[in-house]
Amino acid sequence: MKTISRFVCIILLISIFTIHTPLALASDKAIRGHLDSISGDSISGWIWDSQSPDTSLTVTVTVTNTATGETAAVQSVQADEYRDDLMTKGIGDGSHGFHAVIRWDTLPEAAYSVSISSNGIPLPGTLLHTTGDTKLVSLGSFKTTAYCPCYRCSEGWGRNTSSGALAAAGHTVAVDPRVIPIGSHLLINGVEYIAEDTGGAVKGNHIDIYFNSHTETLQHGTRRAEVFLIQR
Ligand SMILES: [Zn+2]
Repeated sequence: MKTISRFVCIILLISIFTIHTPLALASDKAIRGHLDSISGDSISGWIWDSQSPDTSLTVTVTVTNTATGETAAVQSVQADEYRDDLMTKGIGDGSHGFHAVIRWDTLPEAAYSVSISSNGIPLPGTLLHTTGDTKLVSLGSFKTTAYCPCYRCSEGWGRNTSSGALAAAGHTVAVDPRVIPIGSHLLINGVEYIAEDTGGAVKGNHIDIYFNSHTETLQHGTRRAEVFLIQR
């Protein structure tokens, strides 16, 4: 009996996944959008559901403090502004642009990343913005890899870094100090890190990002990213 009910359960689970997964993916893929620009307090872009081409969607603009990872501001607006360029590109009837207003002067001085989502579905693309005297200077394109405290990754150093600081995830990176001075604050993919470690294999335009587990380092693998120096 147990075997039969298990078998029925498995069949049910398989049918739930096969019925629902493609639909979920299809509706996610149907939503397209872009975060275009930040001009003063105005953030603009467009968002559109190709499966419901004449409906305007609500877009949520999220502003994240890159130093703390905390959400600094959230604003939901209707994407129903007409734009000639959207009409020309075949984005429905063209009425899918949006403007959100973020009062930057009400936020603490920092570097921020701005992203958009619709119904909890994040859309690709992030814009960066700084307030006050904070400046971002692009250092160009870097190879990024990942390491963890395991013996193999850290060569026996564990969480100890060459600068003396204890490595922390979402915070520590290893750099080539001839390219990036130790102590520099860096912005990589919207996250602020501090250059506080070095490594024998980290040379030139290469940054090794610290993670807590080896699984996460494997997920990261080798990537490329534009790296910004945060100046305050
Ligand atoms: Zn490891």
